Amino acid sequence: NSTVYVKGLYKEYPGKKGAVTAMKDVEINVLENDFVCIVGPSGCGKSTLLRMVAGLEEASGGRIVIEDNDIIGPGEDRGMVFQSYTLFPWMTVEENIKFGLKLKKMPEGEQEKIADKYLKTIKLEKFRNRYPGELSGGMKQRVAIARALANSPRVLLMDEPFSALDPQTKADMQLLMRQIWQEEKPTVLFVTHDIEEAVFLSNKIYVLTSRPGRVKREVPVLLPYHRE
Ligand code: ADP
Ligand code: ADP
Repeated sequence: NSTVYVKGLYKEYPGKKGAVTAMKDVEINVLENDFVCIVGPSGCGKSTLLRMVAGLEEASGGRIVIEDNDIIGPGEDRGMVFQSYTLFPWMTVEENIKFGLKLKKMPEGEQEKIADKYLKTIKLEKFRNRYPGELSGGMKQRVAIARALANSPRVLLMDEPFSALDPQTKADMQLLMRQIWQEEKPTVLFVTHDIEEAVFLSNKIYVLTSRPGRVKREVPVLLPYHRE
């Protein structure tokens, strides 16, 4: 059963000499509990693809289906974590994590339980009353991940979430992300230009090429030796 199914996806942008094709005939299939990475060189359309799946940008053609429903704009069935921190600076860590739950008018006790659970997952229990401005980059991304997971989205969409971090923090975040996936099996669609990162994290990789036609390729993930 597909969680995200993309078929015949086409995107063009207006250019000086007519429309420019950003991608054509892209097909991806994300099954429930998959951790799928999209890799490819800079400019091949990875971000555009993810923004379209997020409903933040309109496709020029093709279909994007989330659990049998064609998407029409953004929705809370998709959690998002982007490269730049999108936390609300005037809310504490805990308030940020509870934000979506509050919107849904979830009873305060249940919000508390979910916040506790994800604060523990991201190992920031001691920082629950701090503000984003007081946190390091890695910590802010951990809060962004917790906030997205707290809403129990059908799929977590991540666009180069660790690219802006220093190498040590990045490695820590990759380890944490893999731990989260092994323990909770969220369905993840993750965009990165870092092939090592993709191999480390995912069970399925799609390569988006920048050649004319932008044809996708699905490639098997070769397990690194240190994988269990
Ligand atoms: P990636 O994330 O793989 O680096 P992008 O999705 O950012 O690639 O971009 C894919 C292609 O579409 C690039 O050639 C880029 O220049 C073009 N593009 C992206 N956004 C726009 C836009 N708003 N207007 C025109 N061209 C765009
Ligand atoms: P991360 O913990 O996300 O890898 P750093 O490597 O920058 O980020 O931080 C290492 C540790 O330093 C953190 O786990 C935390 O204990 C502490 N720390 C970082 N920023 C702050 C802060 N603003 N206030 C208190 N402690 C901090």
